[in-house]
Amino acid sequence: MSQDQTENQKDNNGTLRQAQGDPVSGRGQKKPLRIGKIIVDRNLCIGAASCIAVAPGVFQLDSENKAVVYNEKGDNDENILLAAKSCPTRAILVFDEEGNQLYP
Ligand code: SF4
Repeated sequence: MSQDQTENQKDNNGTLRQAQGDPVSGRGQKKPLRIGKIIVDRNLCIGAASCIAVAPGVFQLDSENKAVVYNEKGDNDENILLAAKSCPTRAILVFDEEGNQLYP
């Protein structure tokens, strides 16, 4: 079983939600995902635009057909991470608010 499968559960509607852990002890409590910085490596970007398809509120192509971040808060953190994961060249680097690299 993958880590994603163990840390996430599906609710009755089939919607993926994060496991809450024990609310009393706080054990197993996962810190909410907090994206602080998104960087597109222009040398890696091939303009495939899948990031834009997933998070059009955050990414757009510039005149050189490279993705740029025009609004870091243009989508929720989970979707931004999905957009980064959709990039075929892993050109999107995602950091949390403390500067730790979340992806890739
Ligand atoms: S998915 Fe990756 S390669 Fe495609 S436009 Fe976005 S950053 Fe560039």
